[in-house]
Amino acid sequence: MITFTSWERFCLSVQRSGIEVCLPRELKKMSPSRMSKCLIMKHDVEADISKALKLAELENRCGMRAVYYVHSFYLDALKDRRSLQKIASLGHEIGYHYDVMDNNEGDYTRATAEFALTLELFNEFGLTIESTCPHGNPMKERDGWFSNKDFFRNPDTKRNFPELLDVVIGLEDLVGPDYLYISDSGYKLCIVGDIKNNDRPDFQSGSDEKIGELDQALKLAQETDNITFISVHSHRLEESLYRAYARVLLFKTAKKVARIAYKSTIGRAFMNRYYYLSKRI
Ligand SMILES: [Zn+2]
Repeated sequence: MITFTSWERFCLSVQRSGIEVCLPRELKKMSPSRMSKCLIMKHDVEADISKALKLAELENRCGMRAVYYVHSFYLDALKDRRSLQKIASLGHEIGYHYDVMDNNEGDYTRATAEFALTLELFNEFGLTIESTCPHGNPMKERDGWFSNKDFFRNPDTKRNFPELLDVVIGLEDLVGPDYLYISDSGYKLCIVGDIKNNDRPDFQSGSDEKIGELDQALKLAQETDNITFISVHSHRLEESLYRAYARVLLFKTAKKVARIAYKSTIGRAFMNRYYYLSKRI
């Protein structure tokens, strides 16, 4: 269970450990030996940008830097754009959490147009995007594409946007396949066995390994011979353990309801239509 307080303790432990914290935008300029000792703190910002800003300020006070992968809808309102600019001004990296394949029903041409336009918008608001991360939509029904990860699997994307590092699809080219990717995706920290391929239908599930709390994540980062990512959703952090438990309860209930609804045609159609709501949980 991660709260703002436990994340602060984690940041202070990281600082005391002496482990180098780096940002995805810095990786391309690093030597492989230096890169292999790095820890990257990553936050996907799906909802509640005020929490992301609060987290960014907390990390800044602890002398930490992180990458915040944000959806394009945060560019719509002035207030949200100001929050992003403030996060960037604290030394953090703003990356693009793209949803372009699902948004365009797997149409690669339309997805590319949306992606390019969004990069221009980020740029216009003083936010230069140097790295990206695909968003997952567990409730989306697909025919002809596996997930948003397909966007950077397409060689045309790498040709069209050569300066971008996609931290899910492109990281292996930089550091090899054995990097450590720790995520809170199921509300419990786990080592994700194969983040690059776990959307494919032939993927063998069961390769993820649950770990304990944040202190164990740091221990693993210190022990590994390769780069470590720790990915925590900013909107899931709460002030108190009581609120954090309530959030987990909501998540588990929503998951159960979704599983039951998915068994009926109407339920499946409803979830497919409103798949984007799962971001908020
Ligand atoms: Zn996401």
